[in-house]
Amino acid sequence: MEFKSIARPTVILDPANGLAPKTIPNEIRYDPLTGKTSRIGHFRKLQWKKPDFDQLIAGTEKWCPFCPDKVLKATPRFPPDIVPDGRMSLGDKVLFPNIAPYDRLSAVATLGSRHYIPMAEIEPQRIADGFRLALKFFRHLDAIGHPESVYHLISWNYMPPAGSSLIHPHLQVFASCIAPNRLREMLEAAGRYMETNGNNYWDDLLQTEKSRGDRFLGRIGRTAWLSVYAPLGVAGDVMAMVQGVGCTLELSDDDLLDLATGLTKLMAAYDRLGIYSFNMSFFPGALTDEHARFHLIFSPRTYFNPTLGTPDVAALKGLYNESVCMGFPEEFAEILRSEF
Ligand SMILES: [Zn+2]
Repeated sequence: MEFKSIARPTVILDPANGLAPKTIPNEIRYDPLTGKTSRIGHFRKLQWKKPDFDQLIAGTEKWCPFCPDKVLKATPRFPPDIVPDGRMSLGDKVLFPNIAPYDRLSAVATLGSRHYIPMAEIEPQRIADGFRLALKFFRHLDAIGHPESVYHLISWNYMPPAGSSLIHPHLQVFASCIAPNRLREMLEAAGRYMETNGNNYWDDLLQTEKSRGDRFLGRIGRTAWLSVYAPLGVAGDVMAMVQGVGCTLELSDDDLLDLATGLTKLMAAYDRLGIYSFNMSFFPGALTDEHARFHLIFSPRTYFNPTLGTPDVAALKGLYNESVCMGFPEEFAEILRSEF
């Protein structure tokens, strides 16, 4: 397995230091599976500023459709041939169709009745229950033989910098026979890897990362956690893979809690860096994909300019599909490892 990179240091004449030359470490990294490039540009301190949350949150519960007084009135229902009761629930968590669907079976699952939960206070059990509710939906689709029961995907956009239009924590839950771009590219590349090398790519990746050690974070049960070599996010990505599992439906109840527990560890560590928002997505295979390995990716999000609401995705990412990370993944690993 090759971790290819090209150093591209940048020299500027620094106006903050009498125009003395200043070298900024830059690097282009190639993802060992897909060959896609990510850029590392360490031009700033790895510390961000949180907003005034009281001001940000004030009044948003009044119009929030996921709050307990509104969720059963304001949210849509599934037709009876998909979900006979229209919605599914687990404790105070509710799953219903997404009013802004991006596929035939897009659902949303709330993470309970509490409207705003600071990132570092979200309990593992709450997240695990959200995953359990999504799994209940996926297993139901599988049991009724729904043709979209192929890739079972959960995403989480926590807080507005990550693309959430609501404060109330919730998961995006969808099942589809058509994998989204990045998942499809990864699965195709992993299929080719298995044909060439005879092994599962992610098993080899984990073994390599564990022996190198500089990006490996630790294990919780069957889940293994590592900082991603060529990240997509501006503050590093973390991957968790589950040993022996390919498809989401194969996750055990313990796996769900272990994944949830690991996520709260990442949230605690990133919270200390001033990060308060993230994306998280599942990357499973279909049930028969031997070359797949269930994994999730956690990717912190921020604003480039919080006052103006400038997102951390601009033309470079949006149109060229090129990522820039503001720190080296090995540095983030060092910060995160203390939690594992
Ligand atoms: Zn709410």
